[in-house]
Amino acid sequence: MIHFVGAGSGAPDLITVRGQRLLREADVVIYAGSLVNPELLREAKPSCTIYDSARMTLEQVIAAMQEAEACGKTTVRLHTGDPSIYGAIREQMDELERLGVDFDVTPGVSSFCGAAASLKAEYTLPDVTQTVIITRMAGRTPVPEREELSRLAAHGATMALFLSAGMLPQLRERLLAGGAYTESTPAAIVYKATWPEERQVVGTVGELPEMARRNGIDKTALILVGDFLGNSYERSKLYDPAFTTGYRRAEQQPTPQGGTDHV
Ligand code: SAH
Repeated sequence: MIHFVGAGSGAPDLITVRGQRLLREADVVIYAGSLVNPELLREAKPSCTIYDSARMTLEQVIAAMQEAEACGKTTVRLHTGDPSIYGAIREQMDELERLGVDFDVTPGVSSFCGAAASLKAEYTLPDVTQTVIITRMAGRTPVPEREELSRLAAHGATMALFLSAGMLPQLRERLLAGGAYTESTPAAIVYKATWPEERQVVGTVGELPEMARRNGIDKTALILVGDFLGNSYERSKLYDPAFTTGYRRAEQQPTPQGGTDHV
């Protein structure tokens, strides 16, 4: 059995309870050494065989899994954050399917969630935006033309940009080309969110390249963009005393005789 497990964004205690249990029980762990906190490997049994996938091809990863399967061993494939975001798990799952090997997936705290927690921010503020766009700049891996950054930026929604910290001059140019963000739209760079060496730099879209340069950040960082980082928003309806929900009646019901309602 192969378990794909999300390791979480960095802090070792951000793995899920299920992920931790699977890690403790595993005979083989294949972890993404470039981004998974090695502290997590302390959870593994002393007899566990550990591979760093940063030095392996897809074929080698699958071969290691097959070898473990042949011996009736349990494998954990440990991915950074949540495996569904830029995790390259589909190609592994399809190969396992083809080979008739059983697998399952345990989610993790994606770095964009870890970064929001570190910033103490909420991505979806009433009257500001109700949408989070997760994307990246095209690099050696292309991005489909219809998702070119300026087209997504035209929404003015919250954006969480992965894998793009080394391309900030182009990123700024594409964000501004969308027409919805301006030079003064708030932006943040969160380096190694939830790791002990985490760093946050908050500024504006116009300042992004300089913010990264001054702090020597060019990888393992998220770029977060949007007015969710500002100070103006509406209160939620959900917790508004005058709003009835499926769980709570509004406190301020209009009374038949008029006058003030004291509840
Ligand atoms: N599956 C991962 C993303 C893997 S892609 C997740 O859910 O977070 C790798 C990119 O993720 C990095 O280039 C960086 O942009 C981002 N990233 C991963 N961990 C990070 C962290 N702790 N802090 C900031 N960015 C991180």
